[in-house]
Amino acid sequence: MTRVYNFNAGPAALPLPVLEKAQAEMLECGSAGMSVMEMSHRSKDFAAIIGAAEANVRKLLNVSDDYAVLFMQGGASLQFVMIPQNLRRSGKTADYVHTGSWSSKAIKEAKVGGSVNVAWDGKDESYMRVPKQSELSLSADAEYVHICSNETIGGIRYPVFPKTSAPLIADMSSEIMSRQIDVSRFGMIYAGAQKNIGPSGLALVIIRKDLIERCPETVNVFLRYKTHADDNSLYNTPNTWGIYILKLVTDWMDTIGGLAGMQKINEDKAATLYGALDSSDFWKTPADKESRSIMNVVWRLPSEELEDQFVSEAKKAGFVGLKGHRSVGGLRASIYNAVGRDAIDALVGFMREFEKKNG
Ligand SMILES: *Cc1c(COP(=O)(O)O)cnc(C)c1O
Repeated sequence: MTRVYNFNAGPAALPLPVLEKAQAEMLECGSAGMSVMEMSHRSKDFAAIIGAAEANVRKLLNVSDDYAVLFMQGGASLQFVMIPQNLRRSGKTADYVHTGSWSSKAIKEAKVGGSVNVAWDGKDESYMRVPKQSELSLSADAEYVHICSNETIGGIRYPVFPKTSAPLIADMSSEIMSRQIDVSRFGMIYAGAQKNIGPSGLALVIIRKDLIERCPETVNVFLRYKTHADDNSLYNTPNTWGIYILKLVTDWMDTIGGLAGMQKINEDKAATLYGALDSSDFWKTPADKESRSIMNVVWRLPSEELEDQFVSEAKKAGFVGLKGHRSVGGLRASIYNAVGRDAIDALVGFMREFEKKNG
């Protein structure tokens, strides 16, 4: 077996113990006599799995009973659609902070069928930082304020979240459960699972229960949060495999100290990689220092030729997924929860050698 150092942006690395456990349970999950993919989603065996997944999420993020925890399909992208439909009532507006590619997609969906106030746009600075509180032009009557807490492509994140009087909604796809957060500051948090907590096709939604009730009757039944909350994410057949893997991933996080443990490891990993990048002019990091993501680290080399060479030599040496997103170029290492300290140390070693030969 050869497992590479996986820096993919998403779908991304999963913890090896999780894959091993899933492998061991592939033919018989628990005492069910079948794999998890062959079970009824209404069976006792699956009820135990989805119940444990929800309990893990609640425990790790310290989610109170004021919030529903939902497992949805359609990834984070369907949430871009559902949020305005459910939470922005007719004739009202919503505030969106534009910090890069993913907030842009959220805004595009929100502009369909209603009004959007862009409370800040990072365009003039090429989306290399998040705004300060004082820079936000929030509307007095906004139904909610939407942010992307970690821009996966630009590699920026909020060191502290904005204060808002309207409910704050955050797309946390690429940083969910990577650091400790205070859920009670948010109206809703959501994340596609495939970066930090599971496979693609599954979205985790944590939404305050009073907001669930806001949805207008004009919204299709399936697209209402209430539909899924009332049926405990079992209104239709959910992504059972995804929920099972999410349960295993969150079990694993628990064994390494929960989110306090994860955050410490992640900050350490990011400090090591940024430290190497900052130590020489050969590497350039476009993101503003205070906004630097600890999940997606973006950097440039002196020329695009060198960047291509870096990617191909890295690949030969066993480092995968280092090419920057096609929209911004350069290099990017996504160092999610499942990417170990060993991968960072190996990458930094490779970078030193590369600089010696080409710097
Ligand atoms: C990956 C990503 C998405 C899209 O997730 P899908 O599950 O593919 O819809 C949305 N927002 C952010 C911040 C992401 O990183």
